[in-house]
Amino acid sequence: MNRGVFVGIVAALALATSSWAVTAKICIDAGHGGSDPGATGYGQQEATNVLNTSLKFKAWLDKDTNDGAGGGSWSVVMTRTSNVYVSLQGRCDIANNAGANRFMCIHNNAFNGAAYGTETFAVTNPSSTSADLRNKVQERMLQAWGRYNRGNKTAGFYVLMNTSMPAELAELAFIDNAGDSVYTGSSTHQDSAAKYHMYAIQNHYGLSAYAPNTAATYVVDNSGSGFSSSSNWWTSTSTAGYYGSNYACRGTGSVSDAATFTASLAASGNYAMSAWWTAGANRAASAPYILPDGSVVNKNQQTGGGAWSSLATKSLGSGARSISLSCWTTAGYYVIADAVKFVGPN
Ligand SMILES: [Zn+2]
Repeated sequence: MNRGVFVGIVAALALATSSWAVTAKICIDAGHGGSDPGATGYGQQEATNVLNTSLKFKAWLDKDTNDGAGGGSWSVVMTRTSNVYVSLQGRCDIANNAGANRFMCIHNNAFNGAAYGTETFAVTNPSSTSADLRNKVQERMLQAWGRYNRGNKTAGFYVLMNTSMPAELAELAFIDNAGDSVYTGSSTHQDSAAKYHMYAIQNHYGLSAYAPNTAATYVVDNSGSGFSSSSNWWTSTSTAGYYGSNYACRGTGSVSDAATFTASLAASGNYAMSAWWTAGANRAASAPYILPDGSVVNKNQQTGGGAWSSLATKSLGSGARSISLSCWTTAGYYVIADAVKFVGPN
């Protein structure tokens, strides 16, 4: 066994503990910005279009990362996240200093109003990895927008020459062309360009194109299915602001006797969890919610009633996941089990 094979096995073992086959750091470079607005056309500014597209691309990569069911795990570095000027060397420095694995640059094209289509660049005499990245982006952008194929190209662009990792620069379409500008300036089409850039980087890393799950909301009410408690809990409507038709309550004391809310989550990933109660001076000041991972979050039920209160955001597997409300806290009060909510994967 040579050292390369050994390192490969160690890497594979390390990755086996994660649900993702691929982890990589991606630097997204939104072209222009600030004092450099880039090209203009049809009421649009390139710097604005490409920032919005780049932020949507980051959002897709984050969603893919948070959804453990498929795709990859990406750590995203942005050269800018607002309308500010960043020099070309500054962009390279951000990517190089972050140790990014790939550099992906997003622009709109412009020429004479008549030119149109999509083209993607790698540096002159690119490595096979840079060429592959470029080709994947071009292929996916043609699928996303269906514009004319101007081809896979090379150029000695500064950011492609001076970044130390495989890199590509996409000219999505022409901002100054009537047909193309419908795409460059539309939020919906920017989002599809972003999603297909995600497919491109997934494919580049040998993954099948995977669209992460969008967030779903699961509410479990004490009067609906998914709720269980002992007969020591009773229902009440005497304090207004309850969720659904009533709420469950129990006196506090030195016993858990928890009420349990269970939701069946369709996908794994990060879930924001929150709870609903009716507030009052006789409620527990430190009501112990036990989260699916066994951690405990104490909430003051004397205030904040009639609304969702955040418990925590946790990475949860798919399937039945429960939040329990224990009555084990300072005696002489009531704990209120009215509803809980899971929102995710995010
Ligand atoms: Zn540009």
